[in-house]
Parts: sequence; C-alpha cells; structure tokens
Amino acid sequence: MDSLTRSSVPTDAGSISRIEQARRSSSEPELTEGYQEWRNRFAAERLRVLYYLGLVANPVFIAADILLHREHLHSLLLIRAVLESGLLACFLVLIRRIPLFDPKVLLILWVLVGNLCIVQMTVVLGGFTAQYYNGLNLVFLAAAVIVPVSWPSHLLAQAITLISYYGANFLQSTTPAGLNAAVENSFFLLWTCVALLFSVSLYERLQRAEFEARLSERHAREELETSHRKLLELDRLKSEFFANISHELRTPLTLSLGAFKTLLKLSPTSVCEQAIQSGLRNTSRLLFHINELLDLAKFDSGRAELRKCCIDLATLVRSVAANFESSQKSRIHVKGLNQPVAIEADPHQMKKVLYNLLSNAFKFSDPDEGQVWIRVNGREGTVELEIEDNGIGIPSDQFGRIFDRFTQVEGSATRQYEGSGIGLALVKEIVTLHGGIIAVESALGRGSTFTITMPRGKANPDNIVALEDEEMVTIPRYRETEGERPPAVVSSPSSGNLPLVLAVDDNADMRGYLNQVLHQRYRIALASDGAEGLKQARVLRPDLILTDVMMPRMSGYDLLKAVRGDGTLRSIPVIFLTARAGADAHVESLEAGADDYIAKPFDENELLARVGNLIRARAQERELIDLQKEKIARFLPPHLAEMIISGDRDDFLKGHRTEISVLFIDLRGFTAFAETAEPEDVMTVLRQYQTDMGRLISQYGGTLERFAGDAMMIFFNDPVPVQNHAEHAVRMAIAMRDRMNELRAQWNNRGIDLGAGIGIATGYATLGVIGFEGRKDYAAIGPVTNLAARLCSEAQHGQILVSGRFLQLVEPLVCAGPVGNLTLKGFHRPVPVYNVTCLRN
Ligand code: ADP
Repeated sequence: MDSLTRSSVPTDAGSISRIEQARRSSSEPELTEGYQEWRNRFAAERLRVLYYLGLVANPVFIAADILLHREHLHSLLLIRAVLESGLLACFLVLIRRIPLFDPKVLLILWVLVGNLCIVQMTVVLGGFTAQYYNGLNLVFLAAAVIVPVSWPSHLLAQAITLISYYGANFLQSTTPAGLNAAVENSFFLLWTCVALLFSVSLYERLQRAEFEARLSERHAREELETSHRKLLELDRLKSEFFANISHELRTPLTLSLGAFKTLLKLSPTSVCEQAIQSGLRNTSRLLFHINELLDLAKFDSGRAELRKCCIDLATLVRSVAANFESSQKSRIHVKGLNQPVAIEADPHQMKKVLYNLLSNAFKFSDPDEGQVWIRVNGREGTVELEIEDNGIGIPSDQFGRIFDRFTQVEGSATRQYEGSGIGLALVKEIVTLHGGIIAVESALGRGSTFTITMPRGKANPDNIVALEDEEMVTIPRYRETEGERPPAVVSSPSSGNLPLVLAVDDNADMRGYLNQVLHQRYRIALASDGAEGLKQARVLRPDLILTDVMMPRMSGYDLLKAVRGDGTLRSIPVIFLTARAGADAHVESLEAGADDYIAKPFDENELLARVGNLIRARAQERELIDLQKEKIARFLPPHLAEMIISGDRDDFLKGHRTEISVLFIDLRGFTAFAETAEPEDVMTVLRQYQTDMGRLISQYGGTLERFAGDAMMIFFNDPVPVQNHAEHAVRMAIAMRDRMNELRAQWNNRGIDLGAGIGIATGYATLGVIGFEGRKDYAAIGPVTNLAARLCSEAQHGQILVSGRFLQLVEPLVCAGPVGNLTLKGFHRPVPVYNVTCLRN
C-alpha cells in the first residue's frame, strides 16, 4: 500500500502548480479540486491495471469451469465471452479517454460487468448454493486494492451487485438449503463490502494528508531555494560594490596621504605639524580598513592568491609586535622568537593575521593592567603560534560567531569597544588559505588565547628569504593615545571665568580636535575614558560633559549613569558624541538620559552651538535656583532653603516621628508696652528683637517654626537633622538671654521695660505638613511643644526653664538649679522644672 502511495506522488507540473497556488492562498475548495484532479489521474492509471487483470483472469477461470461444471460448460463459456467483450469494450473506452466515462464510471463498470456475469453464473449453477458467488468477493477486493479511491463509487457498484445477486437467485432458491446458503453467503459478502469500504476511505484520508504534507514541503523547499538564490545574488552584488567603492576610495586616500607627507616636509609650525600628523594617522587608518574590505571582497570572488615563500616567522612576529611596542613594551611577553622558525607562507598576508590578533589582544585588555603573551612553537611539519591576553575574555557560546564577518560579541562589555568585526574573519580566511587552522580558548574576565597551527610546507632554515622592508599594509599605529595620559585641564591663558567643558574620548586625535574647536570659548578638561572622566568630573565639577560612547574601561553610557547617580554631579548636562549614526542611536542616547547627541562626523559650528545652548540653559537654571534660594532664605534658614530647593529630602514633608528639642521665647511686658506705645515704636522694637533672635537661630542650626507676635517657636533636629540637638538648643538659649540683656538695657534707656523668658523641652513628636491646598503649615504634634510653651510662660526675664528630661541631656554642659514642681496647664501631674543659669567652663 505504501509503495503505491509513494509512486502516486503527483508529478504533473500543471496540476501541482494549481494545487500549490491553492495551498498558498489556503483556499480549501481549490485544494480539494486540485487533489481530485490528481486522484482522477491516479485512478485512470490504476484502472488500466485492473482491466488487464480482469481480461486475463476471466479466460483463466475457464479451467475451473471445465473441471467443476462440465455439464454447464456451454452456458458458462457464453457468459465468459460476454464478460470478456464487456471488459474489452470498457478498456477501449478507458484508453481512448472518452470524456463521458470518467475513472469513477469505469471503476463501477468494471465491478458491474464482472459481477453481473458472475451473478449469472450462480443462477446457472443453482442459485445461493453455487460457490461461484466467491467471485463477487474477488471482484470487490481487486477493485478496492488496485483502485483504492472514491469509496462512493465502490459502494454503488457493491450495492447494484448485491441487489442483482439476491434478486436473480431468490426465485429459484426457496428450498431450506438454498435459504441457508443465502444467509451464509450474505455474511461473507456484506463483511467484505464493509471492510473494503472502510479501508478505501481510510486510505484516501491518509493519502490526502500525505499529499498536502508533500506539497507544503515542496513549497517550502522552493521558497528556500528562491531566497537562497536571492541572497547569493545580493552577496555577489555587495562584494562587487565593496570592491568597486574601495578602489574608488583608495585613490583619493592615497593622494591625501601623499599631500600630508609633503606638508610635513615643509617645516610646519608645531600646531600645524600636530594637525598634519593627526590627518596622516587617521587617513592611514581609513586606508587600512578599506584594504581589509578589499581583501574580504577578494576572498569572496576567489581572486585571493598567496605569494608564498620561505620566511622566518619569528622575525615576522617581532617586526609586527614592534608596532605595539612604543607604549606597550612592558606588556608584551614573547617566547620562542630567538631562533628562526622557517615556514612557507605569504609574509604580506601573515602580517595582517598577526596585526589583527595583537591589536584585538590589546584592545580587549585593560589599558594599564593588560598583558599579552606571544609564543611560537616549531614542530615537525607544523608551526604553532599562540597569542594570549588577560583581557575581558569571550563567552564560550560566542566562539563560533566571532570568526564570522561583521560580528562582535554581544553584551554590554563589548559596547565599549569600537570595531568593524572584519579582523577575525580575515584572519580565518588567510589561515585557511595557507592550509592552517585557528582556534580560540577563553574564559570571561580572565582572557583569551588564539592559536594558529600552520603547515611548514617546503620550508627549511636554509632557504629563508629576508623580509622586505616595505611599509606592509599601511598599518595604523595602535591606539593613538599610547603612552600619554591627558592633562587634567587644558585652560587657555584668558580662561578666567569661562565655563568648563570636560571632553571624554579614547581617541587622542579627537580630544585634540575638540580642544582646538572649543578652547576659544571655554576652559577644557580632557579624559581618555569614562572612568577617568568620572574622576575628573568629581574634582572639577564641569559645566558640561562631552563624551564619546564607546570607550574602554567605562563606556559613555556608564559614565552618564554614574553622573546621574551622583547628587553633586546630577545636574551637569551631558552630550554624547558618537560614531553610531541613525535615529535609533539618537533615541537610545536621549532615553539613557543624555541632554543631547552629536553624530560623528560633525560640524564645528554645530558642536559650538549645541554646547553653547546647553551651557546657557544650565547657567540660567542656576541663576533661577540662586534667586529662589535667596527668596526662600529670607523666610527660612539657609540650610533648610537649600534642602527644599535641591529636592533631596522631600520626604521630610511627609508625616514622621522624630525626637526634637523645642525652644520657646516670649517677651515679658510686651502687652503693656504695645498698648501704650506708638505702633511705629512697637514695630521697631519687634524688628530689632526678631532680627537679633533670627540671626542666633541660623547660627545655631535651629528652624524657626513660627512667629506669633512677640513669641517664637524653634525646632532642633527637624526638618534639618542636628546631632546633639539639646546642646544646640541650650547654647542658643544662653546666647539669646545674653543678647536680650543687652537689648533690655538699650530699651530701658529709652524708657521701655521689656525682658524675655525662655522655655525648652525635648521629646518625640510627629512632624509634617498640615493644612489644606492653598494654606499649609509645617507642624509638630506632641506634648513636647506644649511643655516648651508652658515653661516659657512661667519663665521670668533672664530665666531659661527646662524640663527634667532636657536637663539630663545637657547636664554635663550647663549649671542649673531646680525651680520646683510646677503645675502646668495640660499636664496631669506637677512637672519638675529647672533653671539653666550658665555654661560650665
Ligand atoms: P573587531 O573589529 O570588533 O575587533 P574582530 O573580527 O577582530 O572585530 O573581532 C570580532 C569580535 O571578537 C570582537 O568584536 C570581540 O567581541 C571578539 N574578540 C576578538 N578578539 C578578542 C580578544 N582578544 N578578547 C576578547 N574578545 C575578542
């Protein structure tokens, strides 16, 4: 059955494409139509087999007629002749493909022609008792097995057969034996029919499912092939584009390099020389990257060729390492370079391999702590080169990816490093072309080791050729920052009060350029990475930070995060200066909390304008804050005003419970004075008293909670926290008393008799804002305020009355004597009260 199914998989292109179209559009009726079309074709093929079988089997059964029913041979031969002719006629119709007779009709005809003749034979042979009825089963079986589709056609043919069988034999089989045989035969006939119908329908269902699955598979495969073809074409176009554009770029770059070199020979001033050197370095760098792209394009097109010769790998390694040695000398450790290591290789290409591996080793290591080990091991037939570093390492699940083009390890650590993702892909191509292999071992945070194993080829120490002293691949000097640490502040002579801009970039040329652009208008501080930048920001408090994004050790994002998280630096505007262009990068920067974003390359004027805008905005903001502070400070102690403006401790406004010391001071004799004196005199006296007391309150860190005419209530330890609040309170009370004595003397001279009493208590209170929208107050709820007020009202001029609890806190500090147990309003029991007279020395 299975083999039949497999051989029946549709091959006709027209019907498949119709069916596939239906599949793609997921239209069920169309899919069914396509399936039926294919099924008819399949049925037509199988019907041929069925008819062949019938045409052959019918004459063969004549042998049975002769052996078993010689007496009826005549009649049986006649029936067989009719049967054969009928089959032949239908077969001719089948092969002529007459449209009226579709496969279903021909299937029914086959069953009926065969079975009606067999029914006729049973009639001749005695009705239900004739064993020839088994022929009906054979016909049903052959039809269902060979053409296992369209169960309704089978059902129809079976029904007509059975009706005719019973109809034709019933009249002559009324004997008990005949009826018995009828029942017995029915059992076999009916069960054969049911079983075959069931199997045909099941088979059809399975076949349809497989049909659909194969179509989907084929469809998916074709789509995959199409996209693969498209990708190959795109890849080819990309490589062609790279090759063309790189060639186009190389010419102007080479000319620029030439021009810079000529300029250098013309004895420029030192400023010009610096600019020319920077131009030369960066143009070489660009040329280097373009050459890398060109190399990749060559590998793609299969044009890459090796110019192999016998070289000494040790000398080659030393010459490339020398590129890094100017500043990294103490960080490079070599082994196995003392003796010549002969190898057959292309020196030009091998230099690229070494340069890329070494520059990665340095790039991904700490600029101060990083160490690099180069080891060369000559073996029988092969040479092994190892480059190890103790840098950031590579996660093991990325080992497979890093040799792919334009790929960088994902993760926040790598965001700190610039790069194109070409280096290792190129290294692998070159090593493979030499017949070698490259492997990597690495542990995150501990370092990486790249190992190259190359065949020695036909090299031997006697035929080593000397390396040419060519300028190899216009290798840019590794990291222009080498060696130099930036000066902290590069101020121009006239810098005076100019705003300070901190520029953070790991590229020394870029720092130099920023300095040159900004130094006329600003004082400049420079830093070579985020960590250095943060350190300087903490010391210098610049007016603006201009930072690159990708930097070793600490990226621009991390610097920004640290600045925003530091209360003292938080408000400094930060501008990102980055090589990542595009809306995404812009949005990402602003979302991270940067105030602005400038993409490289940028225009000088744009940079100046943006820096200027932010600095101006910041200056205005600061002026506004100072103004607010000044205004608020008229009403509040400066430290409280500062606290409110900075918004650092807004939680003090919410209800909270704290231990505080409360001091109450009130004038004695004020009511009588106010009733008799001129209002102007009263105001003058009040102002003098309040000014002098206010000054002392600020001096001792208290918070004036409220004025009420001649009374004042002062808190210590809330909202401004004060350690030893009781001590501050008592010292202030003594200072107030002394000042009041002086004022009293002055007022007495003017005929005014005024003094002041002071009461102090300490205890827990619930503090916070009370009131409603439009009128709010800061208040302390608790017996401590009441006690201080009551003590004050009991105090004579010159007395500082305090509670027992308060005295305990300041006892070592002051001299005090008991006044007695006083009955105070609001207190159930008499309160022990003391009078503080002086400070102990
Ligand atoms: P890139 O220009 O980014 O350096 P490469 O092809 O040279 O491109 O390297 C691909 C990536 O492999 C790098 O971006 C880095 O994530 C990782 N990598 C390569 N060498 C090292 C190394 N020595 N230490 C850590 N990571 C490395």
